[in-house]
Amino acid sequence: MKQSVMSKKSRILIYIIFIVLIFIGLLVFFLLKSQTGNDKNTVSENKKLQVVTTLFPLYDFAKNIGQDKVQVTLLLPPGVEAHSFEPKPSDVLLINKADIFIYTGKFMEPWAEDIIKSITNKNLVVVNASNGINLISAVFNNPDEPAGSIDPHIWLDFDNDKMIVNSIAAAFVKKDPENKSFYEKNAKEYNLQLTDLDKDYKSALSLCKSKEIIYAGHYAFGYLAKRYGLKYLTAQGVSPDAEPTANDLINLVNQIKKDNIKYIFYEELASPKIAETLSKETGAKLILLNAAHNISKEQLEKGITFISIMKSNLENLKIGLEYKQ
Ligand SMILES: [Zn+2]
Repeated sequence: MKQSVMSKKSRILIYIIFIVLIFIGLLVFFLLKSQTGNDKNTVSENKKLQVVTTLFPLYDFAKNIGQDKVQVTLLLPPGVEAHSFEPKPSDVLLINKADIFIYTGKFMEPWAEDIIKSITNKNLVVVNASNGINLISAVFNNPDEPAGSIDPHIWLDFDNDKMIVNSIAAAFVKKDPENKSFYEKNAKEYNLQLTDLDKDYKSALSLCKSKEIIYAGHYAFGYLAKRYGLKYLTAQGVSPDAEPTANDLINLVNQIKKDNIKYIFYEELASPKIAETLSKETGAKLILLNAAHNISKEQLEKGITFISIMKSNLENLKIGLEYKQ
């Protein structure tokens, strides 16, 4: 009887141990499975460097430097005017999840610094493209934007672009040192294209009869005008938000007439109202000068590039400034 009780107890104990072992086995199995699943996700997500950029030139530079090793997201939706852009909460989350965030600088994206401070992702590498670049003041004289406003359009100088390209390449190397030579080679090749572009601008613009750009938009081409010794007059200040005053427009009309200007340049992704008014008042024709802050959906689908926009700009500058070979 005693033996039978003992054996019953032993059997119960064996059952309990058996159940506990099965339970532990299942637990280990599921833990390992979930671990492997996580690893898989991490690998597939991290295979490419996740890069978020604010403006189109930064997006295009990053794509050229990183090619198939990076996934670049342009924060600005296609066609959106860059100066009035405000990030949505989902944009902040996107930056927080990224490996690298590239922005132009605090004068172009005043919202960026607050986001950077709020980021919880300690591994995020932030590239401020203005770092190391000599920022110039706008010469535009407007009561709303007193002389001395910093011109944030740093990408409209090809030497600045080379520095930005190098900053982006350095960030890629920091995050992915194994592919250092790949990123550096691509950056070098891209910079050679910028050197060629600069040479084309220098020689063509030196052969233009007019040295004066009348721009029926905001003060975007200050760097370009300075680089090639051109006079640059605009209807608005460094941001397109403020409407030009009647006085600003009268002054521009007088200037166009005085200097016998044949073409007025107008800007991309903005209302052509100012350009049309100036053209109507003066008889000058209209021609596009694209500052490339952002691109339209159609242009994005067509695969337009920063270099191709700048080449088209040079063709239009040759027309507008009366290129004589
Ligand atoms: Zn602008």
